[in-house]
Amino acid sequence: MASTAKKVALITGANKGIGFEVARQLGAAGCVVVLGARNQTLGKEAAAKLIAESLDVRFVPIDVTDFASVAAAAESIGRDFGRLDILVNNAGINDPGDGPAPTAQLAAVERVLRTNFLGVLAVTQAMLPLLRKSPAGRIVNVSSGLGSLTRNASPNPSSPTFIGYSASKAALNMLTVQLARLLSDTPIKVNSAAPGYTATALNDFRGTQTIPEGAAEAVRLALLPDDGPTGTYSERTGIVPW
Ligand code: NAP
Repeated sequence: MASTAKKVALITGANKGIGFEVARQLGAAGCVVVLGARNQTLGKEAAAKLIAESLDVRFVPIDVTDFASVAAAAESIGRDFGRLDILVNNAGINDPGDGPAPTAQLAAVERVLRTNFLGVLAVTQAMLPLLRKSPAGRIVNVSSGLGSLTRNASPNPSSPTFIGYSASKAALNMLTVQLARLLSDTPIKVNSAAPGYTATALNDFRGTQTIPEGAAEAVRLALLPDDGPTGTYSERTGIVPW
């Protein structure tokens, strides 16, 4: 087992978009980055790009909906490092069949929930024993402002309505709240980051923020000091109402 004084950080869905940028920024902050991706070729290419920037990065295959691959990733991190300091649950999807509750396709809603909520729960359960071995574990759930019940309850929400995607992120926020409470007697902190509307493949690059702007809050929460908060939901500009 390679013992390292550096923090070990796993980022899921890190071959592109916000996850790739979180990987880059955590690498630049001195972490060993375990770059998770479901596609071997894309994952290895992404890791190579960051290695070319002199960052300490290795690729691990992980499809968050394939629980055998999740278990294998945990085993490989355990073997290589014996612990995990930072878990950024970033992998996420939307689906063209998702939409307003009266008409959204059920199969699409199921797919979105499976990746954005169940996948995160599976990864978190698999990684928790390794996070417990860290002196300062951090879990960042990459949520969305679309998961805010308060914002959705507004008579004129500023965003379009997708029952599957929004429910998946609201469920993810529930994971943040419950896990933060259950782990409150440990050093592990669990927080939800809302990236804001960011130009990535997820929205055909229509987002109004840059990718570094979209990654900023997740990176901040991943690097929280020991007196930092747990059980919060925030975006770059401040707290998001649940
Ligand atoms: P993106 O560019 O489409 O990246 C999504 C990443 O997740 C890709 O690497 C994708 O892999 C990966 N992924 C999808 N399903 C996966 C699975 N089953 N297992 C492992 N990886 C999987 O989108 P993004 O905007 O960077 O999204 C990152 C996170 O931010 C998501 O959770 C999203 O909901 C959240 N978010 C984004 C915005 C925004 O405006 N962009 C706003 C709020 C929240 P492939 O390349 O193989 O598909």
